[in-house]
Amino acid sequence: MDPLRVALAPIRLLVLDADGVLTDGQIYWSDRGEAGVAFHVRDGWGIRRLIEAGFLLAVISGRRSEALASRVQALGISHLHQSVEDKGATLAGLQAGLGCRIAETAALGDDEPDLALFAASAVRFAVADAHPSLLEAADYVTRAPGGRGAVREVADLLLAARSPA
Ligand SMILES: [Mg+2]
Repeated sequence: MDPLRVALAPIRLLVLDADGVLTDGQIYWSDRGEAGVAFHVRDGWGIRRLIEAGFLLAVISGRRSEALASRVQALGISHLHQSVEDKGATLAGLQAGLGCRIAETAALGDDEPDLALFAASAVRFAVADAHPSLLEAADYVTRAPGGRGAVREVADLLLAARSPA
């Protein structure tokens, strides 16, 4: 059997970075600060399907954004951590609270702070346009770049790993 599928079978927690993963990494900025970011509807659909299938979803972001908070709420993601400086510590706390082991955790990231998520995840995903350090550390690099369907790709893989072969 496909080794990725085998590794994905026990996963029940998917941790996502926000900027560069749920978005393409660009932030529209005005003199009053953040003026907008763009999310992809197909990523949203994949997230909804994961939640329906019983997966736990978490977003851990180094930044604070009202747009992100609103999007996360609209999608029904129950765990959002913003302004996080140590993503590893935040994920460890989340895993402890949820009773979720590293073997049951997967992460999707695009930049160096997400290596701390990788360290506490059994399956490590990088978006196609991730920083080289993430591309090197990842078990799987999505075909799609951040904000353009990468999350959906991971969602489809997780759902496929749960379904009968
Ligand atoms: Mg990022």
